Amino acid sequence: MASAFPPGPIDLHTHSSASDGTETSAKLVRAAADAGLGTVAITDHDSTAGWESASAEARRVGIALIPGMELSTRRGRASIHMLAYLFDPNSAGLVAETARIRSARLTRAEDMVQAIGADYDLSWDDVLAQTQDGATVGRPHIADALVAKGHSLTRSDAFAGILHWRAGYYLPHYAPDPLTGVELIVAAGGVPVIAHPATRGREGVVSEGELSRLVDAGLFGLEIDHRENTDDGKERLRELAAKFDLAITGSSDYHGDGKPNRLGENQTSPDVLERLVERSTGWTPVLPD
Ligand code: AMP
Ligand code: FE
Ligand code: FE
Ligand code: ZN
Repeated sequence: MASAFPPGPIDLHTHSSASDGTETSAKLVRAAADAGLGTVAITDHDSTAGWESASAEARRVGIALIPGMELSTRRGRASIHMLAYLFDPNSAGLVAETARIRSARLTRAEDMVQAIGADYDLSWDDVLAQTQDGATVGRPHIADALVAKGHSLTRSDAFAGILHWRAGYYLPHYAPDPLTGVELIVAAGGVPVIAHPATRGREGVVSEGELSRLVDAGLFGLEIDHRENTDDGKERLRELAAKFDLAITGSSDYHGDGKPNRLGENQTSPDVLERLVERSTGWTPVLPD
């Protein structure tokens, strides 16, 4: 099996314009090939809309594609992202839940834009102009509209300013709890990995009690090698991965021009990729002939 994967770096976390990346999913796969990757996963927020054209492009350019998604989950006020790989995109439970999340994201974005619009020249149409039809809407699209209207210099500038929760316009959106997320992914034959679990430092890392429940439900791994995990947080995550026998992944979280993250800047080992594929029952990787 593993020998069917082309040689080259493995990057298991990227976004296309089906969510908040700036490139179409076909362009994203071309960029991955141009960057010299052997394997790339497409993991748009709460959507599989990019899978089809990404798969066609991967066959065309001859790299391996792992179809995936980054599922929004929430525990209280904390947003927790759950990467999901090789699940059945038609699984009823996951289809219903992602539709609910996308709809909640849309309402939330409209409400945020209405509040921002009271203080800045910004309309919902300005945001739609920055959003691909049917895309999972998020703050990055509002950021792009703020940049287009001259209120912010870049996406990052908008996130540090107007879109920061401290600015007073931030609103949360509905998302299932992490355990439900893992259960839905596993029920769809997929393989769950917690995305960037240490962005809030060592103290913000998931507790052993919660992690053990997620592992019992089928959690496969932790995305430790990610630029937004802190160093002390990564150290804690390595202890937890050893204790619970979890796989360790590394990825870029590439968003095209929307973030500084570069394809392949963090990578996953071929051995972990092989175990991930063996664990999946919902979908198969797209491999070159
Ligand atoms: P949301 O889920 O709508 O609250 O938006 C969060 C998304 O914004 C994440 O998926 C990130 O990819 C993106 N994001 C967060 N911080 C930044 C930043 N400083 N610059 C660009 N994108 C960001
Ligand atoms: Fe994102
Ligand atoms: Fe994320
Ligand atoms: Zn991401």
